[in-house]
Amino acid sequence: MSVSLEQSGDVWFPDGNIILLSVEKIAFRVFKGFLAQHSPVFRDMFAIAQLDKATAFDECPVLLLSDSAFNLSPLLRLLTGVHDFLQTEKSLQFSGLASVILLSHKYQMERIRDRALQLLEDIMAVEPPQDQDVKEYLAFSSLSIMPEDAFAIVNLASLTGRNSLLPMAFYMCCFLSPVTLIHGFIRSGFLCKLQPGDVVRCFSGKSQLANACAISFLKIYDYNLDMQAVCSTPSKCRPSFHGHIRKITKYSPKEITSCNALSAWAACDIHEDICDQCSLTLSDRVKATHSEVEEFTQIFRARHQMADSKGSMTNIKGFACPKFVF
Ligand SMILES: [Zn+2]
Repeated sequence: MSVSLEQSGDVWFPDGNIILLSVEKIAFRVFKGFLAQHSPVFRDMFAIAQLDKATAFDECPVLLLSDSAFNLSPLLRLLTGVHDFLQTEKSLQFSGLASVILLSHKYQMERIRDRALQLLEDIMAVEPPQDQDVKEYLAFSSLSIMPEDAFAIVNLASLTGRNSLLPMAFYMCCFLSPVTLIHGFIRSGFLCKLQPGDVVRCFSGKSQLANACAISFLKIYDYNLDMQAVCSTPSKCRPSFHGHIRKITKYSPKEITSCNALSAWAACDIHEDICDQCSLTLSDRVKATHSEVEEFTQIFRARHQMADSKGSMTNIKGFACPKFVF
């Protein structure tokens, strides 16, 4: 019986001795020895499985996989040297990097998985950015990434045990809408969503970040806290501080309870004239508050493992696709 398949554009070696078939029936013709060298899973599959000679194309055995072409393509292009994007791309596409991590983990290609994870950790496993919006931070990184990609990072961290990725990923989640957090979103035909426990963590984090932001506001701009002890011109500075509080609460009330607790107040300088001592104290308060909030975000690091902690990727196009992380 000859199988019906569509050849992959660039991962098709005419002299290859195995055809990998994705769930969408996209075919990749590669070399068994090369796959076996990188992956003990493929090595065992080739050793144990009786590749059905009747299911062949051009007398080349065909192996049906449960993976999508979307995920297989970046990994096989990397493996076969068609495109070593981890090495050559100045701006990495997150989707390709995530696919490589997902499938290299599944097929136990440890060197490739660790290399891809390291690239992701270099950008994501850092302290949340200071004095910079998280979107700005990501926009200037070498990874082309959207806020919604945080779902995939949370799930990849769960899959690979890299909890160092979690604080930034959950922090990114906090900027997504409640609808997106609860219902997920559809990308390339797949429903991407977090597991219920992670959704709860996001809402809890959003609430706590908003509280921390409001407390920061009060701590930073309360003149009566300790400012009068150092202030050289109380008659000028006190009204300036009080006026600033009134201005923010009138014109930017949402800033006071923003999730953007790590950077919201860095840009909120008092433009009114204040003395040098008050200016220095104000700067110290901002730094101290930032440290407190930064410690607070570590709640995202201690992620509780749940029985269903792996996220899901449900193919809505009707393919027989198993649940994956995304
Ligand atoms: Zn002063």
